[in-house]
Parts: sequence; structure tokens; C-alpha cells
Amino acid sequence: MSSSDTTRPRWQQPGADPFIRISQITKNFSDVTAVDNVSLDIFRGELFCLLGGSGCGKTTLLRMLAGFETPTSGTIEIDGLDMSQTPPHQRPTNMMFQSYALFPHMSVEKNIGYGLKQDKTPKAEITQRVEEALALVQLEQMAKRKPHQLSGGQRQRVALARALIKRPKLLLLDEPLGALDKKLRERTQFELVNIQEKLGITFVVVTHDQEEAMTLATRIGVMDAGRIVQVGEPHAIYEAPQTKFVADFIGSINIFEGGIDGTHFVSGTARLTLPATHPDAAKYYAIRPEKISISRQSTGLENEFQGRVEDIAYLGNQSVYVVEIDGGKHIRVIRTNRERGLEAPITWDDPVHIGWPAPSSVVLAQ
Ligand code: ATP
Repeated sequence: MSSSDTTRPRWQQPGADPFIRISQITKNFSDVTAVDNVSLDIFRGELFCLLGGSGCGKTTLLRMLAGFETPTSGTIEIDGLDMSQTPPHQRPTNMMFQSYALFPHMSVEKNIGYGLKQDKTPKAEITQRVEEALALVQLEQMAKRKPHQLSGGQRQRVALARALIKRPKLLLLDEPLGALDKKLRERTQFELVNIQEKLGITFVVVTHDQEEAMTLATRIGVMDAGRIVQVGEPHAIYEAPQTKFVADFIGSINIFEGGIDGTHFVSGTARLTLPATHPDAAKYYAIRPEKISISRQSTGLENEFQGRVEDIAYLGNQSVYVVEIDGGKHIRVIRTNRERGLEAPITWDDPVHIGWPAPSSVVLAQ
């Protein structure tokens, strides 16, 4: 390994040893294949998000890491050790559940220290570690309260402190922010990342929320129907999806269906200039709404269409336009509202030009 490699994240270093190695894992529940031949390496210190729609198998995969489910076939290694015969409580893992599962009759500090008490840790040490854990999640003032006297966000932090106090090497989190409203969720996402970075513990987080995965993750594994369909850093998943499913699932995207003809992608009457890198045989041409310019005049860009504004959604910080182009296709365009009080904003039924440069597009084989 060259010395420059060590400055890069472990997953970019060829030959780096993974902390978790999932090899050809399958889990069948009678006639349902919940997880289908998944292989995945996760590295020490990562905050890895398993992202996918309902029922795609992400919780089942997490539960197999924790040892609560036994794989039908395949192996899981954590920290170099095969986990096949290791029960949950002997794994270097802890799991934080979506429901938080706090004891309602116990105070915050008792909830947090519960695991250490079960392990017969000396009292003085429990007190000290509970104090540390409370400070970590900034709940020092709430130590004596009961869970029902806390907000949803505070309960979430108690659950996190309780999961972290045993200093697991690996923390598994199932929809950790699922019970929080949008604003609190956003704030808590940053707190979670800060805590994870401070402790250096490896986190594997299950979520169905793509924005959450983008905010939290060092890397994302996108799941569909029991399989991992793409693994990558958030920007790679967003900017370079490898399949139509991933392109569609993450953010919003316009998709043209067709095929390559020389230097162009042809879809109905549309001839689109190809980006420099693309598969030889392609089925889809995709362009994100925020990469498209919209104007009353010609945009002067390689791929330009004339159209008519069918719909507008004004979202304050940005406006979303749905433009019908020749041939009847609807294209979503997002424009950031930088200026206030534009004299004549583009509105319904206006004739417009839309366009984008070829490198902004992605061409997909499947
Ligand atoms: P969600 O986001 O809705 O929780 P998920 O991606 O976490 O979904 P899983 O809970 O892993 O999905 O479930 C994957 C599939 O396996 C689903 O079809 C589910 O119905 C099925 N499944 C999960 N657990 C069991 C079980 N104990 N017995 C039978 N089928 C199960």
C-alpha cells in the first residue's frame, strides 16, 4: 500500500481489512427470501447506512449482524472472527431499537446504567460511566427524570447513551430517528454524526429515508428485494447511480427510455448528446431536475428543448417546474430562488426553453 493511501478512507484503500465481512448471506423465512445472497464489507469507524423501501430486508440483515436471526446460508465475520456460533450477548455489538425500549419506571440514569448493573460492574464505575454517557448526549440535567417526562428527541438520546455505555465496537441502529419530527430529526442527525466521530465506533444504521442516509453515511448500501444493488459514498450514489432503480430511489430524476445511436441517445423524437462516459449498450438516459436550466430565451446548452410550463410548485427556497416538451414528455426542473421579487417570473402556460450540458446526464444499461 502506498503512503498516500493511508490518508484515504479505509474503503478506498485496496486490500484494507474490513471490520465486518458479510459473505453470501441469505435468509429465508418459509417461502420469503428476506435477504438474498448479500456480500458486503464495512470498515472500522464507518457510519454505514442500509437504505431501502419497506420490506427490502434491511432490518433482517441488521438482526443477523446482532445475532438475533440466524442466516440460512453464508457467513458474517466481525473483527476477524466468524460469528456463526456466537450468541448476541457475546458479540462486540449493541443494538438500538426503533422503539427505544426504555424502562418506563426507571430514571434516565438508571436506564442508561442498566446494562452495566446487569454485568455486575462496580457501583462507582457505573456512576462515573453514566455521567460520561449523560454528558456525551447532553442530558446531564435530566438524569433524575423518567422517560415520560422527556421529549421524543431526549428519549432517543437516552436510548443512544444506553446503547453506547457498554462501549460496543459496533452499534446497530434500526431507524434511530424514526419517531422524531422533521426539524428535530435534522438536528439529531448532526448530533449522531458528531457522537459517532467522537467515539470512533462503527455504526450500521437502517433507514428508509434517503435524505437521512445522505446526511449520516460514510457509505450507503441501497437494498431492493433482499439484494444490495449499489454501495457507495453518498455523492456517488446520487451523481453516479448504476441502475434506474437507484437513480429513481434517491432524489428525483427525469428518465428517457431508448437506445444509443452513434454519439447520441435516442428516445422517441429526442436526440440527446451523450456524456463522455457511458455504457456501450444503454436503455435509459437520466437527468436530475436541478441540473436543468429554464429560461424564456434559448439556454444555449447542448441538450435543449422548447416546452410549456404545465405546473409550478413554489417551495420558498426553490421552485419546481413541470415542463411539457415536444412529444408530450414531462420534465421536472428545479430552480433555486436566489433573487427576491423577480419582475416577471416564469409562470403557468409560459413557453420556455430548457437545457442541460451533456456531462450532467447519466446513461444506464439497466
Ligand atoms: P421495513 O422498513 O418495513 O421495516 P425492512 O426492509 O426492514 O422493512 P425486513 O423487516 O427485513 O424489511 O423484512 C424483509 C422481508 O422478510 C419482508 O417481506 C418481511 O415480511 C419478511 N420477514 C421479516 N421477518 C420475518 C419473520 N420473522 N417471519 C416471516 N417473514 C419475515
